[in-house]
Amino acid sequence: MNSADIATVKTLLAKPQKIVIVPHKNPDGDAIGSCLGLAKFLEALGQSPVIIAPNDYPKFLKWIPGNEGILNFERENSQSKRLIEAASLIFTLDFNHLSRTGQMESFLEAATAKFIMIDHHQQPSDYALVTYSDVSMSSTCEMVYNFIDYLEGVPDITKDIATSLYVGIMTDTGSFKYASTTSQTHRVVANLIDKGAENMQIHQNVFDNNTPARLHLLGVALNNLVILEQFKTAYITMSQEELDRHNYSKGDTEGFVNYGLTLEGIIFAVIFIENREEGIIKISFRSIGGFSVNEFAREHFNGGGHTNAAGGRSDITMEETTIRFVKLLEKYKDKLTQ
Ligand code: 5GP
Ligand code: MN
Repeated sequence: MNSADIATVKTLLAKPQKIVIVPHKNPDGDAIGSCLGLAKFLEALGQSPVIIAPNDYPKFLKWIPGNEGILNFERENSQSKRLIEAASLIFTLDFNHLSRTGQMESFLEAATAKFIMIDHHQQPSDYALVTYSDVSMSSTCEMVYNFIDYLEGVPDITKDIATSLYVGIMTDTGSFKYASTTSQTHRVVANLIDKGAENMQIHQNVFDNNTPARLHLLGVALNNLVILEQFKTAYITMSQEELDRHNYSKGDTEGFVNYGLTLEGIIFAVIFIENREEGIIKISFRSIGGFSVNEFAREHFNGGGHTNAAGGRSDITMEETTIRFVKLLEKYKDKLTQ
């Protein structure tokens, strides 16, 4: 954020505002962690923010302090709409385009509130009065830490704020191993631990809460893995039947896509997950190195994200989708194997 933006934010927050904080649809650890961390910080400033998530989020995030106060736009629909309409200030966190909020998009577009965007995805759109966008950042949670720092609020960081922000940095960096993890990320994380974030406990809460059904589902996923060595690519399919057979609940397939990348020589990994209710195949793309899955997802699967992690969707059947995908790989062979 430049100094003019910081001054704008300070002026806005010096007065009581009706604040709504919004993460993207299917919020992940970074989305929920950043919203909760920011909300608690704004509370310390005397504001009374409300977090409205477009839909539900996984059980492995439902222990973060304050999460029980998050409204679900699908469930608390009329209350959420009223709050958006009445809001004077709306923070949008961890996404770059209002369409990433699904059903909420039109209501956010119609809102009269001023917008503040904090996000690390590529190609941010231009709807906010203040756009704090930095694609080099590990996570939106690291950016919320910086945002607090810009407002000279680091001394106000409580254990709950530190815990929330730690969650998102940890999940978005693959537990501090992705290229986006900088020495500065570690400095921020060190400060969060000093502020009370219990790193070992947080890791356990997020990652060591598997149900037997989920581990069996992972078995199915690994069994379905297709390796295309000629394209340095591996992909996994998960049909709705396979999900149903293992009592699928939200978040159960989180992280499955990464297994493809653990294969020697594989630089592009994909998972296709059928969602019969929405009539789509939800896709996650991951890469190692220079191959941009953001561009690939944008160009061919109505999605986007970062260079090495992106998402998208397909409206045709699973079989048609994978056939189309493999055909596309031909076009990218040089980029994938150079
Ligand atoms: P995931 O595969 O974990 O759902 O998402 C990976 C990254 O891509 C995340 O940063 C996420 O925000 C982004 N992403 C996921 N799905 C979509 C999508 O449909 N459209 C766009 N633009 N980004 C997505
Ligand atoms: Mn993120």
